[in-house]
Amino acid sequence: MRVAVIGGGIAGVSAAYELTRSGTEFVLYEASGRLGGIVETVRRDGFVVECGPDSWVTEKPWARELAVELGLEEEVIPSSDFQRRTYIVRGGELVAMPDGMRMMIPTEWEPLLHSPLFSSQALLSYQREPERAEELKASAPESDESVASFVRRHFGDEVTDTVGAPLLAGVFGGDVDQLSVRAVMPAFVKMEREHGSLITALEKNSRGAASASVFTSLKTGLQTLIERMVAVLPTSSIRLREKVQKVEKSGGKWHVFGASREEFDAVFVATPADVTRALLSPIDSAFDELLAMDASSAVVVALAFAPEIAKSLQISRGFGFLVPQNRAAGRASAPSLLACTFVDQKFSHRAPEGGVLLRAFFGGESAPLLANSSDSEVIGLAQQQLSALLGPLPAPSFTLVRRWPRSLPQYAVGHLERMEQLEARVRALPGLQLIGNAYYGVGLPDLIRQGRETARRVMAPSP
Ligand SMILES: Cc1cc2nc3c(=O)[nH]c(=O)nc-3n(C[C@H](O)[C@H](O)[C@H](O)COP(=O)(O)OP(=O)(O)OC[C@H]3O[C@@H](n4cnc5c(N)ncnc54)[C@H](O)[C@@H]3O)c2cc1C
Repeated sequence: MRVAVIGGGIAGVSAAYELTRSGTEFVLYEASGRLGGIVETVRRDGFVVECGPDSWVTEKPWARELAVELGLEEEVIPSSDFQRRTYIVRGGELVAMPDGMRMMIPTEWEPLLHSPLFSSQALLSYQREPERAEELKASAPESDESVASFVRRHFGDEVTDTVGAPLLAGVFGGDVDQLSVRAVMPAFVKMEREHGSLITALEKNSRGAASASVFTSLKTGLQTLIERMVAVLPTSSIRLREKVQKVEKSGGKWHVFGASREEFDAVFVATPADVTRALLSPIDSAFDELLAMDASSAVVVALAFAPEIAKSLQISRGFGFLVPQNRAAGRASAPSLLACTFVDQKFSHRAPEGGVLLRAFFGGESAPLLANSSDSEVIGLAQQQLSALLGPLPAPSFTLVRRWPRSLPQYAVGHLERMEQLEARVRALPGLQLIGNAYYGVGLPDLIRQGRETARRVMAPSP
């Protein structure tokens, strides 16, 4: 069996790693000059700067399992949850989310009721939600709905706009009016089905639950996961700077056109949805429609302040802030920050002692507006908006800008049904496997699991 893996992001590299473990011959095609895709860490002057993902969700075990397997147990670090606090920007100020919130759902009443974040009307909606359990169960639609519609049914407009939309935009860079609740918040949909009220469901589920940190990362950054996997891949199997132009199927074999045409028994397409669509539509035109997805872009701006410079900074205690975007106003005319992480407070080992590392994001409608701006213009804009919220910022020791155009696919309402149809088309083409962030989760643990399981499944002896 000879396998082509097209795309060397975390999904493709995880699949290649598993193929190596089973001794399967493969070629990993990567268009750029490095492996990892959106996973990229820059280590400089004692700072560890993540250009893409900064952590994984602790609840999902597959990234940690892989790290341990790769001998990285000593590297694993929890988020510093003793100082976990997220701020929402309201009227140009940082207002703390009440303690005990899980996404937009409270698990404690006291902090919520004393929070200046919500009006008395919104607090009333929260208080009434458990009483409306039966009505909420009954009002749940038979089919999928948008995240906005789901949150609105439970907590009303204000909660949707003030915390629901910015929280989801922070993770998916997306629009809550478009995102599918069943695809992006399946656990909450299950809670509604079982309990009606989300507040009651969380109360019951959290009884006796151990409180682990919410996020997990690695001391030297997430790129270490990639580096460790790549270290065991046969170098002769890795083709950097080899963009696959075309894929064909004939005579029971797959033909992959990179620098030359090569023949394979199976092909794992691990490229972003747009590329996968372009590669597969000529084979089956159904892919053209099924893989036509919106994808949001992100621009990451990191500002690093060495200890002697950082002394003058007074950053609030917490993990960072989210900026609600003006959803009613239609297309943004000027780029506005979507979020900022206070990196050195969220994780240890990210800055030298006393140093400060800020990571600001432009996303949603703002990222495309910056497509033609130079890096120094983007940095200037970020500094201006950050200093309006955090106070005057000294000149950073160094800065970094990374642009991730169309990097996060938007799971629109009806996504899971579309995925079923997609799977049926894939099954009709034996040897084809689709992996990556366009299908069943954008987070690293899901992609690692998917890459590895796909390789194991394909290599498993047939019964
Ligand atoms: C700013 C940002 C922050 C994020 N933060 C988090 C986080 O904290 N935690 C988390 O879990 N997730 C996070 N995510 C999501 C997560 O990083 C991504 O979903 C994930 O890294 C995508 O991996 P992938 O392998 O599917 O795709 P990619 O990483 O996009 O890899 C695809 C690869 O295919 C290559 N390629 C494209 N075309 C071709 C071709 N024709 N031939 C060969 N190769 C090709 C590309 O060069 C690329 O290397 C974040 C995403 C972004 C953008």
